Amino acid sequence: MNSKYVAIAVTTECNFKCPYCQSTGESVTNVQGMWNYNRLKEVIKAFLEAGYRNFRITGGEPTTVPYLGELLDFLLQNSDVRVRINTNGYNIEKYIDQLNSQTEVIFSVDGFGNAFSPKRLTDELLKKIQYLQSKNISIRLNCVVTKQNANEIPELIQFCSKNELNLKLLDLCPRVEYQGNVQNDFLENNYFELNKLSIPFPKISSNFRTNMIRKGTGIPMSGYSLGNGHWLQIKDSSQKPYYASLCNNCQYKDNCIEGVFSLSLSVGEILRIANCVNQDYWIKLKGLKQRQIEEELKKMEKNFFLIND
Ligand code: SF4
Repeated sequence: MNSKYVAIAVTTECNFKCPYCQSTGESVTNVQGMWNYNRLKEVIKAFLEAGYRNFRITGGEPTTVPYLGELLDFLLQNSDVRVRINTNGYNIEKYIDQLNSQTEVIFSVDGFGNAFSPKRLTDELLKKIQYLQSKNISIRLNCVVTKQNANEIPELIQFCSKNELNLKLLDLCPRVEYQGNVQNDFLENNYFELNKLSIPFPKISSNFRTNMIRKGTGIPMSGYSLGNGHWLQIKDSSQKPYYASLCNNCQYKDNCIEGVFSLSLSVGEILRIANCVNQDYWIKLKGLKQRQIEEELKKMEKNFFLIND
């Protein structure tokens, strides 16, 4: 399967304000707002032409944009395209007619009753998850593990096993800012080492990396079986990520713990590598025509993933 992959942060808006998130979510921190739909379609056409078939729609909260349904229809008209949506569950049920076997919904859930994050597995959210499950939509839960919710993780793992859900656990990432505040001690005060978790399920893989764009990129992960074909993945940033050789001289490398694993599109029409904060390597797409965007994509693939034509 073609694995060329791009994440699209369609908006910086979110109905929640999670303390570990940037004020612009997965978008670059210096631009607020939302993609213009027609322009986004033009840019996506360039990605499709360049062979990209895996799209992750994120934000902010992607279900807050008025055109999400149209966007899903536009992408999914290509039967070989796969779309993942990162959501906190807000209004996701409204898109049930668009979701199908080409899609996966990734719910961000940080535990059951903890006060640290608003992303709680409430009865209301559970009903939405079960509704999507009843329609055979692929679902995964993502959970950021911190000192605040680490005690809830064993219950969350058991819950996912019992309810036939996939689960990914991630540790806290250094960010340029957290909800608009540069809090240098935030990470230090809340970081929880994932290797301290005890997982009462069989390990099925270790040290596997993504094969998005190029095999062997990103952070090595480990996998566990939760039974009935469902799994737990652990993405522990203390493992060594993949960097491109041009990252070696980057002044931000120490805080760039996810390294290089995908392309990403931000509000403001910025194309960059994953969460790259080095603006020398960002590409501004504003005003570029489809053909020029395709050229820029090739340059990025060559520079970061050593892929030539
Ligand atoms: S910030 Fe960008 S250039 Fe710097 S190490 Fe990370 S991916 Fe590489």
